[in-house]
Amino acid sequence: MASGAVRRTRFAPSPTGLLHLGHAYAALLAEREATSGQFLLRIEDIDRDRCRAEYEDAIYQDLIWLGVQWQRPVMRQSDRMGAYRDALARLAPYSYPCRCRRGDIRAALSAPQEGGLPAGPDGLVYPGTCRGRSLADAGPDDVIRLDAARAFDALGIDWIAFRDEAIMPGHDHALTRDQFLGGIGDAILSRRGMGTSYHLAVVVDDADQGITVVTRGKDLFDSTYIHVLLQKLLHFPTPLYHHHRLIRDDAGKRLAKRDDARAIRHYREDGATPQDIRRMLAL
Ligand code: GLU
Repeated sequence: MASGAVRRTRFAPSPTGLLHLGHAYAALLAEREATSGQFLLRIEDIDRDRCRAEYEDAIYQDLIWLGVQWQRPVMRQSDRMGAYRDALARLAPYSYPCRCRRGDIRAALSAPQEGGLPAGPDGLVYPGTCRGRSLADAGPDDVIRLDAARAFDALGIDWIAFRDEAIMPGHDHALTRDQFLGGIGDAILSRRGMGTSYHLAVVVDDADQGITVVTRGKDLFDSTYIHVLLQKLLHFPTPLYHHHRLIRDDAGKRLAKRDDARAIRHYREDGATPQDIRRMLAL
């Protein structure tokens, strides 16, 4: 840990189900990695179809029970649509509307390729069918995508990098322009009917909350390259990252919200203490 520097971290759950052991690990680790009083909470509720007020309440109750203490106020993404709209407008020179559905993308990619279809953090790498379209022609059902090649050209760079204090600390994790275009491609900035996407919202919010160390699961490691590119386009600083291990069940499967049996709430109802949870997580 860098001595003396203030470290501000966050826990950013989506209220789409009860918190499970993996969330408890993420929250406790983020709190531990912050300088005292610099741990923030953010409710990631842009997906209005899947988020529920009762799950948001359950998040607060479970965190209080675990003994996690966060700084007020809590940021809620559903209150921040104006900030996402502004960021999207600033990205307009490098973005375009896309009307392709998953089936169209699959069909466009299905020419024989060695090693299967190219896939990145958001699934299949978009083949660019709509890339020539203008934002002025965006339809209500379109998504907005980042033209990644145009973004790299505008920035005048041919690679991007970030540092991770848990994975190869002290070394850059870097991706060249060609690796980005081939393995990630044109990420979605605004989903159908949502006005933003996970990638855009997380970048804008981490900057506005002044987060210096982003702690989150390893499953989001590749998405970080998208976030770094967006930070550069929006003139935001790139924080330090800490991608942590994922908590798995006894069969080695990653925990998901649907695995209700592992919900913190159920451990608690069965008589477990917060210390038991920490012990199970080796924290
Ligand atoms: N909201 C995301 C989740 O619940 C976390 C995103 C992040 O930490 O960047 O998995």
